[in-house]
Amino acid sequence: MASIAVKLQQVRERIALACAAAQRPVQSVTLLAVSKTFAADAVREAHAAGQRAFGENYVQEALAKIEALADLHPGLEWHLIGPLQSNKTREVAAAFDWVHGIDRLKVAERLSAQRPAGLAPLQVCLQVNVSGEASKSGVAPAALPALARAVAALPNLRLRGLMAIPEPVAGFAAQRAPHRVLRGLFEALRAQGLALDTLSIGMSADLEAAITEGATIVRIGTAIFGGRA
Ligand SMILES: *Cc1c(COP(=O)(O)O)cnc(C)c1O
Repeated sequence: MASIAVKLQQVRERIALACAAAQRPVQSVTLLAVSKTFAADAVREAHAAGQRAFGENYVQEALAKIEALADLHPGLEWHLIGPLQSNKTREVAAAFDWVHGIDRLKVAERLSAQRPAGLAPLQVCLQVNVSGEASKSGVAPAALPALARAVAALPNLRLRGLMAIPEPVAGFAAQRAPHRVLRGLFEALRAQGLALDTLSIGMSADLEAAITEGATIVRIGTAIFGGRA
């Protein structure tokens, strides 16, 4: 089995090739290493290999890992990419740098109200249901503009962009289709004056298709840490 450092390097090379093919600068894509289900030591190993941004799905698991890796702070950036219930917002507002999966105003309002004074605004993306998402979460495209305007107005959040988790499909063209839909929604919001700069799309199986359609954050788990039980 290749080490985490070797697999990270392979993923960085995939990103660089995809950026070159799309005529995009390689620095325009941030690699988010999705460490869910893997132990703090795996994150430590990735950090030692130069990785800084980590994604987690489950709040309790993430909080334990963030605590265990507090000695690396502030060298680590933590992104919550899984679903967030209202009763967990206080802990999330205190511990994370980014939240990607916001699809309800109530959760955003709670995060803004609970973000501790003295921390930078919480960076957030709205999750959009572009293709009958596997997870069934995400705001419907028709409801997106109103949600985006309301979230952008919250004082302790900074709305950065959109995220999606399309149904897994094989083939480059089929993978591009939902990413292109999200890109269109993103451009429409920007045309309405929202200062968005982030498209959080692309996972281990479709990062090339996502980068072709404008991904600025790719969320990669399996290709770095291996398969999950
Ligand atoms: C698990 C997960 C990922 C990473 O998926 P891989 O296929 O392992 O790269 C990315 N995004 C979200 C929202 C996830 O839940």
